[in-house]
Amino acid sequence: MESVPEEKKKLLSIIIPALNEQETIPILYETIEALAPELPVNLEYLFIDDGSTDGTMEVVRGLAARDSRVHYVSFSRNFGKEAAIFAGIQNASGDLLVLMDADLQDPPALLPQMITEILENGYDCVGTRRIDRKGEPRVRSFFARRFYRLMSKISKTEIVDGARDYQMMTRKVAEAILSIGEYNRFSKGIFGWVGYHKKWISYENVGRVAGKSKWSFWKLLIYAMDGIVAYSTVPLVISSVLGLVLCLVAFIFILIIIARTLIFGDPTSGWPSLACIIILLAGLQMFFIGILGQYLAKTYLETKHRPIYLVREDNLVTEDNKL
Ligand code: UDP
Ligand code: MG
Repeated sequence: MESVPEEKKKLLSIIIPALNEQETIPILYETIEALAPELPVNLEYLFIDDGSTDGTMEVVRGLAARDSRVHYVSFSRNFGKEAAIFAGIQNASGDLLVLMDADLQDPPALLPQMITEILENGYDCVGTRRIDRKGEPRVRSFFARRFYRLMSKISKTEIVDGARDYQMMTRKVAEAILSIGEYNRFSKGIFGWVGYHKKWISYENVGRVAGKSKWSFWKLLIYAMDGIVAYSTVPLVISSVLGLVLCLVAFIFILIIIARTLIFGDPTSGWPSLACIIILLAGLQMFFIGILGQYLAKTYLETKHRPIYLVREDNLVTEDNKL
């Protein structure tokens, strides 16, 4: 890549959501710094502390004291990675923005290629996807695969298997993402929904450098259900259709029973099967009322218009103390 004079260089904001990442943040910072001289952009770091309870904020404050390009926003509690992503995009000042996990599972080595795709090849955003899930628990990979397959069938928005939140985008795309002010945020869907010209880069999965994954199986399951409810109404259609089919079946049974009673008599026989049918139908009804409830609950939360996150502390450059 040809060299660009320092003052003409664009600014790249690296947005890093972090929940209890005291071990990984220094490694991440050093890795990116080692790469920085090769990059045709100036850098800004924006750490979003998502309510960490370890020394994450001490580490981040330490970096900010040494390096004026390090900014941070610290939440009042854990609001989840989605809220952190939103806060990052909202508060970044770069011409280009990139979302990056703190644990180096999003290889900084891909940055030069991502920058080239946007600055030279004219793409609006660059997404990354893992071509494998090496090093991940088997059960988790299995369900993740099923989830993406299901999503691609039941949602109109493209949600790519293996897609990471590691994305680079122009300011225009960032504005588009911010214009979606919904409370239940599912970034993988939002990125697909906004569209724009997107380049996908594939890479082999890497494990985290230190610390532990913040996602338990249950947290992921709930995340998957949120994604389905946010990006598809197919479960509602299924419940209506199944309800209709069951009514039809019941109607046919009634006709059969009437006919049988008229011909053979003995109307009281067969109560055990009746009990089973009632339990089955009651179960199904509850299941679908539950699905309905999921959508209702999400609508309820949206109508409250609560803020997506609350800030306890930050060192952002505001209009008053601009350099
Ligand atoms: N993270 C966050 N809030 C959360 C959970 C995770 O900000 O509630 C951050 C975490 O610190 C990391 C990134 O999101 O930088 C990805 O999390 P993790 O590596 O634990 O997830 P995995 O790679 O196992 O999917
Ligand atoms: Mg990780």
